[in-house]
This record gives sequence, C-alpha cells and structure tokens, in this order.
Amino acid sequence: MSEVLNVEEIFAGKVFTLGKMKERLPKNVYKELKRVMDQGGELSLATADVVAKAMKDWAVEHGATHYTHWFQPLTGITAEKHDAFVTHPDAEGKMILEFSGKELIKGEPDASSFPSGGLRATFEARGYTVWDITSPAFLKEDATGVILCIPTAFCSYKGEALDKKTPLLRSMEAVSEQALRIVRLFGNTGATKVVASVGPEQEYFLVDREKYLKRDDLIFAGRTLFGAPAPKGQELEDHYFGTIRERIGSYMKDLNIELWKLGVTAKTQHNEVAPAQHELAPIYETANIAVDHNQLVMETMKKVAGRHGMTCLLHEKPFAGVNGSGKHNNWSLGTDNGVNLLDPGDTPNANIQFLLVLACIMKAVDTHADLLRQSASDVGNDHRLGANEAPPAIISMFLGEQLEDVVKQLVETGEADHSIQGGKLQTGVSTLTDVDKDATDRNRTSPFAFTGNKFEFRMVGSSDSIADPNTTLNAIVAEAFCEAADLLEKADDFEMAVHDLIKEYMTKHRRIVFNGNGYSDEWVAEAARRGLPNIKSMVEASSALTTDKAIKLFERFGIFTKAELESREEILYETYSKTINIEALTMIEMAKKQILPAVMGYTKTLADTVLAVKEAGADASVQAEVLKEISAKLAESKQALTVLEEKTAKASAISDEKEKAFFFKDEVFTAMAALRAPVDALETMVDRKVWPIPTYGELIFEV
Ligand code: ADP
Ligand code: MG
Repeated sequence: MSEVLNVEEIFAGKVFTLGKMKERLPKNVYKELKRVMDQGGELSLATADVVAKAMKDWAVEHGATHYTHWFQPLTGITAEKHDAFVTHPDAEGKMILEFSGKELIKGEPDASSFPSGGLRATFEARGYTVWDITSPAFLKEDATGVILCIPTAFCSYKGEALDKKTPLLRSMEAVSEQALRIVRLFGNTGATKVVASVGPEQEYFLVDREKYLKRDDLIFAGRTLFGAPAPKGQELEDHYFGTIRERIGSYMKDLNIELWKLGVTAKTQHNEVAPAQHELAPIYETANIAVDHNQLVMETMKKVAGRHGMTCLLHEKPFAGVNGSGKHNNWSLGTDNGVNLLDPGDTPNANIQFLLVLACIMKAVDTHADLLRQSASDVGNDHRLGANEAPPAIISMFLGEQLEDVVKQLVETGEADHSIQGGKLQTGVSTLTDVDKDATDRNRTSPFAFTGNKFEFRMVGSSDSIADPNTTLNAIVAEAFCEAADLLEKADDFEMAVHDLIKEYMTKHRRIVFNGNGYSDEWVAEAARRGLPNIKSMVEASSALTTDKAIKLFERFGIFTKAELESREEILYETYSKTINIEALTMIEMAKKQILPAVMGYTKTLADTVLAVKEAGADASVQAEVLKEISAKLAESKQALTVLEEKTAKASAISDEKEKAFFFKDEVFTAMAALRAPVDALETMVDRKVWPIPTYGELIFEV
C-alpha cells in the first residue's frame, strides 16, 4: 500500500486563509478586514500593522525568511522581489524579525525595467505595488527557501495600471455594479454584489528534459522551429483520455499535491488529444483569484516537471502537425446571495431575467467581437486561431438547441412559450440505468459556447494570462447591462419594456449565434456574409484596443484610460516583434551551426561512398542520386537562410513599433517558414544518426 494522502489536511497548508486570519486576529481587526474584502474601502494602518504581524508570524512558523509583493506585469508572467524579515539587530546583537502594515500594503519596485508602452519615461521610474486584499497571501517554497507571497496590483506613480490585475479588479467592480442594477429590476434586493467566476482548463505538454536541452528552439522559443512529422501523430485518437503512463501519473500526483497546498482546487486531469499533451482544471472561483491561481498552476507545472526529469511546455503550438494547447476560460456571473445569472433553469423561455442577461451578452459579444478576439491573442496563439487549427479567429456564440430555439421563438413571434427538454438517454441496454439528458448537446468548435450555466471562451492561449480575456468579458457585459438598465429603470411598464428589449437585442445580434461546425470553410464564408470580423493575427487584432468604441467602453467604466490602452497596444507590437526576432535568430543559429554542418558532413560521407563504390567497379548511381537530392535541398536551405538573415536584420532597423511588428509577421515569419520546409525535408532524407537534434518521434512519443 502506498502512503495515505490526506487531502483535507494538506489543502491550503501554504495559504494564509480567511480561517487562519480569523483564528489569529483580534475580532475587531478581522471584522474590519473582512468588511474591506467584501465591500472595499480603506484599511487603517493600525489594522494593517496587526494583520502584517499575524501574517509574518504564521509565515515564519512555516520557515519563511522573506516576503515579496507578487505581481503580474505586462510580460504576462509574475514578478517578485524578495525582502528578508530581518531588521537592525539590537544593541546586544539580537535580531527580531519584523513586517509592518506599511510593508504589507505598499511596495516600491523600480518600475523602469517592466514593459510600460511609453506610459512612463525611464526617468519616471517609480512604480508601486499595492496589496490586493481579496487574494490570499501564500508561501512559495523552492531553493531560495520559503517566501511569503503577497498578491499585489502594480501601478505607476500617476496611478496608471502597469499590470494585468488592476484592470481586472476594475472590470469586476464595473460588472458587479451594472449586474446589480439588472437583478434589482427583478426584485433581488438582497444581493450586495455580483461576482465574476472563472474556471480555466489548462493544457500543457511534457517532454523529456534531456531531449529538451538538446534543442535550442525549445529552450529559447518554447516551441520547435524545425521538425519533420513522426510516422505517427494523433490520428488514432488513442491519447485523448488514454490511460496515464506511470511517469506522467507520478508527475500529476506531485503537481496536485503542490497545488492543493497552495489552495488551488486541482480537480480534473487527463491526457489530451496530442501525444504528450495533458490537461488540468481546477474548480472555478472568483475571477481575480482564478487568474492568480492560474499563474501558480503554470509556474508549478514547470517546477514539478523539473523534479521528474521533464520540461513542461506551455506554448500554444510546440509541435507542428499535432494539436496545440489552449485554455478554456469558463466564465459566469453570480450574486452574493446565490443566484447564477447564467442559469437558465428548466424552462428558459419563462426565465425573463436569464433571457435579458443572455440578450445583453449577445449584444456585448457581437458589438465587441474584435476586443474579445484581441483579448485571446498572443504570439503563440497565432498558430492556432485562424491558422492550422481551431477554434477559428471568428468570434461567434454557441447557444445550443434549447436556447437557440427560444431565441428563434422570441425573434420570430415575439413570444417564447416553450423550451425543448432533454428527456431520457436511450442506450438500448436494459441493465443500464436511465439517465436524464441535458437539453442541449455540446459543440466543440465554437469559440464562445454556452455550457449549461456558464460561457466557455475557448480561444485563450495556453501560455497567456487569463486576466485580459476576463477583463474584456466583464467590461463588455457591464456596458450592455448598463445600457439595458438605463432604459428599463425608467420604463413605465417594466414587463413590456423588458420584453421589447430582449426581442430587440436578440434580433439585432442574432448574427453572432452559430451552432454549426466552426472549423468548416463554409462557416468562414458565412461569417463574412454576416459581416463578422475575421481577424487573423495578433498584430492585426491589437488595434482593437484603441478604436473609439473601445476607448469609450473602457473609459466609461474606469477600466482603462486612453493612455493605458495606447500603451498596451504598443507593448503588444513590441512583444510580437521581440518574440519573432528570438525565433528567427534561433532558427538562424540552429540552421547555421547545427543542421547545415551535419548535412554537409553527410554529403561528404555520401560523396566518399560514391567514389569508393565507383572505384570498386560497382554501380554508384543510387548513392549519387541521393547525394544530388540532398545537395539540392541543402542549397535551398542555404538560400532560405540567407533571406531570413536579411529580413531579420531589416526588421530590427524599423523604428515604428507597429510597422515593425507587421514586417515581422509578413516578412520574417514567412521567411522562417521558407527555411523550415527544406530543412524538414532534409531531416527525412539523411541518416538518422547524423541528425543533430532529437526528432518529433523522440520528443513526443518517448516521454
Ligand atoms: P470540460 O472539459 O468538460 O469542459 P472541465 O471539468 O475540464 O470541463 O472544466 C470545466 C471548468 O468549468 C471547471 O474549471 C469548472 O469548475 C468550471 N465551471 C463549472 N461551473 C462554472 C460556473 N458556473 N462558472 C464558471 N466556471 C464554472
Ligand atoms: Mg476539460
């Protein structure tokens, strides 16, 4: 028997939970803290001092030596700067560890080395981290020791957001305020806020560390830049939900334990579609905490992989020709008195509040399809959205049979008098228990699918922070709620007004609903006919942030200022160019110093063979032909390499960030593909023993 794992005992062991605060803090302090957590407002410095001391004592009891303000700059990952709890020793040389309320509330990292997109000149380097009281502090344990991590927001001296958390928190307040207006209209006076909840399903790849270390592309770019397909891919569909191999299983077990200790409710685990691809999903929670936890999930996935002699790849497309990784972002809105605004109940046709919420979401998604698309774009995701694989880059909504039918009734007749029911599942086997079916089947190809009591935004990339998609979702839905509430609060006849509004919104925005196969070419044509945007790449999506429509939306709800949006767009271009530049340089390096030399060596061997065979009086035509074919591909590779070198140098000389990003996309990226093709062909032609880097077969089938 293996040792018994007590999950209840280890769960949140490394988190300074509400329970621990309640236990360790004086009653009045705890009450004040809880009030600010729930309703916002100022925390007095005296209270902060007491909380800081309790937090420090707890952390030190668990071996912590340092604390850090843990934040999420626009790099998309997290940042930390450690400070020890040490203070001046007293006259007798004795050290007393301290941590003050001031240190808890505010930090001041030098902000000049984080991306700011021109928001802050380097001489204005001040940036502040501010304690996010709504996300619990936790302990991180690694070679550095035990560090108390305090989730914080990161802003410039002038209060501009330099991170992902600040706008997310702003958007949560906005959607809460507007959603409250909606539920009040339906008589819910008990709710004091509406919370956005998120459950992200995280996909990832695991590769053997030894092999990973032999590939510069994986090291520098996180994805393979060369690589011929292995004889087997995912065509047998034998990996999805397949039995989990021992090595992966022991990784998953350790990962779960680490995550549970951190208070992350790791719940689901399974093998994904591509070989070496897996998924983990936690239970949904408040958007803000879900975002923090997803960062911890990604970080922990990488850390634990190291312990198992593996490397975790979070890139959206580590391998060409097999599925890439995404992150399904499940999102819903619920009041603090227990009502999920996205729960249709058994008879959605009669649930007017739900229908209004749905109509508003249809309006929001249709009006701001470009923003949603933008929120899910990152460099790696360009390989998925609208490229080799789904979901498509076109935003549409899947409602399912039942809701689609209700919408149809409303739009066409003005009344919805029935809802299609699921009924019983007919298996044809008498010994199988009768089970109820859902009213609606699933659709796996929709980028924004209704799944019973939530929407699943499936476009998000696996390596990306989920802060942006959720900020955008909250913002666009807040706007639609606000506009509906503005009208309905003034209506003389509420029932009539709400009925008309639902019908109006659904009629106007029905074009965003698509229940068919989102991967098909017909849909691309159909979407164009409907006038839905099809934005193919990250750089093309970026300007969605600064349209008049977007600025008006974000400024109205205090989520982003125009300057913040402009800076974010600028950072996206910079990030794109830098990333493609790294990829191009890595390709150049690998081609020049590893692959071409290996192939040249092999041609020498072949040439020697041809000569020797001829000299021995035998027929060397086969050897000569192979030599000729390989030499031709070698020449093609060399030429493509030269082009790539030229284009990369030219790109770097462009000073306008937007122009540069487009050049990287249109010219450099294309030149990379042109180099990859003959090199991948060479891989299939030369002796396996001379190929200098591990192959796809070795990387994804031999983990
Ligand atoms: P599937 O792969 O079948 O879509 P998973 O179980 O892998 O489902 O993931 C579903 C995710 O959705 C989980 O994180 C789950 O907690 C989350 N979820 C469930 N209900 C809600 C809800 N009301 N709001 C937000 N997320 C939810
Ligand atoms: Mg899943």
